[in-house]
This record gives sequence, C-alpha cells and structure tokens, in this order.
Amino acid sequence: MKASIVLLFALLAAGCSLQEPLADNANLPAKEDKRSERLSRQKEAVVRFFRPMAVQEGDWLDTQKEPGETFEEYLASNPTLPTPARRTIYIQPIGKFTGEQKRAMALTAEYMKAFYNLPVKLNAEIPLGNVPPDKQRKIEYKNNLQIRTAYFLDDLLPKLLPNDAAALIAFTNYDLYPGDTWSFVFGQATFSERVGVYSLYRLSNIAFGRDNDKDRLLTRALKIAMHETGHMFSMKHCTKYECLMSGTNHLDETDRRPLDDCPECMAKLAWAMHYDPVERYNALAAFWEKNGRAAEAKIFREKAKAVKGVEAAS
Ligand SMILES: [Zn+2]
Ligand SMILES: [Zn+2]
Repeated sequence: MKASIVLLFALLAAGCSLQEPLADNANLPAKEDKRSERLSRQKEAVVRFFRPMAVQEGDWLDTQKEPGETFEEYLASNPTLPTPARRTIYIQPIGKFTGEQKRAMALTAEYMKAFYNLPVKLNAEIPLGNVPPDKQRKIEYKNNLQIRTAYFLDDLLPKLLPNDAAALIAFTNYDLYPGDTWSFVFGQATFSERVGVYSLYRLSNIAFGRDNDKDRLLTRALKIAMHETGHMFSMKHCTKYECLMSGTNHLDETDRRPLDDCPECMAKLAWAMHYDPVERYNALAAFWEKNGRAAEAKIFREKAKAVKGVEAAS
C-alpha cells in the first residue's frame, strides 16, 4: 500500500509541475494598489467557508515541503496573465467517450468560463490518430492500451494549438503513462507550451466516498481542470486552506477538496482576470442551480452575499 502511494505521489507530481514565475518585486501602480487593497478586504469575507489545511498520512503535504503563496506574494511574483491576444481556453476531446464523459467535458467547459471569466471553447471530438509504437504499450494483466503523454504533448497538441489560446487542454479516455518506469498518470501539462492532457479513464463513478457524491466523475474532472488552469496563470499550490489549488497525492485527497478556490487563491484569480468576486460567486451559483446541485449553489450564493456585505460596510 505504502509503495503504491509513493508511486502515485510521484506520478501526480510529474503531472503537476509549475513554471516558476520570474522574480520581480515591481511596485504596483496606484490604481492596481486600490484594486488589490479591495480584494484583500473582500477575501476576508469568505474565510469562514473554508477549513484550514489539515494534513493526513499519505497526503501531498505529508510527502512534500511547500511554502504556499499568499495573495500578496502572488502579486509580487510577476505572474503569467492572460493577454488580449491569448485569452481563450480550448478543451479538446480526443478518442471515444461515454455519454457520462461527454457530459462531464461539456460541463467542465461551462464551469471553467464561470470560474475564470475567460472565453472557453469545447472543440469537436477528434480521433487518437497514429500513435508510434514507442509511445504506446499494453498493461499485460489487463490487456489495456496505454498512451504515453509525450504523444499528446509533443506530437499531437502543438499542431492544434490556436494562436489565441491561453491553453489547450485535452481530455482523453485512454489511460496515460509518462515513461517506461511509471504505471500510469492522471495527466500532464507543459505550461510553457500551453498544452496539457488529462485522462478520464480512472476518474469514474466506481464508488461513493465519504461525501456520497453521485456525480464523482464530473466533480473530479472539474477539480483537475480548474486546478491545472490555475497553474497556467502561475498560481502555486495552496497550503493555508483545504483549497482547490492545494496539491493532491491521490483521488481520496482530491475528493476531500472543495470545488472552489480559498480566499487567498480567489483573490489572486479575481485580480488576474479582473473578475468581480460577487459576480464570480453568483455565476458559479447559477451553474449549480442549473445543474441540480442545490447545496453547492447555496454556498456560492452565501459567499456572494458575504463579499457584498463587506462592500456595503466599507
Ligand atoms: Zn498542482
Ligand atoms: Zn488556496
């Protein structure tokens, strides 16, 4: 068990590398100062909706030392931001999918738009294409075809990357592996090249965990896609709260994490995307109302109200 945890940890770590932002403590202009001051106040209003980070055995922070990153540290880090020329996030399905998987991808595109306030385009499905022999293998005991992530990241996706893409995220139903010594990986991204690939293969609804989530595939796909997109805008792993931007070692840890950014990470995102937190929380509430998850919707409406309250008081 221990060995499998370590291996899994290494796999996820491989799939979750973060481009270091350029160190630059540039002074923010006065207008930016005001905006960041306001967000510093607003983020305090939603603290009560999040739990402080609690590390369990085998968790990401049990095996990794990470400093975390506050809102203020993010501002000082000269992060990669969307530009007018490159702000669309493309989601590219590759292969054949079940109805449930198609629904999860369509909803991921919708959630992404509400979450990041960027244009999101869901492309039509394309076939896998001809995978060279050295970029595929079969797992003997299951006779299961696996595709090496390099096939997507180096061969296929760069050719499909549109000029206006902030990122091109591929979803596939094939099981993935990053190299011969690995058993599998959930996904991998190269942020400098703006492409990433994530497999839905191991995310299915096999069992309901402690949160009794009947929509587990969708919930996991949303968490993984939002988390990786956060990295694309230089957001580091969060260590302060149980947060969507916290690193995870295994699916059980992913399942424990919320479907939203903590106060610090929310402020980073709102600043990076020029996104009003009240508008954002209401958009996310509307998503869940439309998709029949009243409990999620209610929390987002309450967050919107809490931030509005701070504004009225100041
Ligand atoms: Zn990560
Ligand atoms: Zn966070």
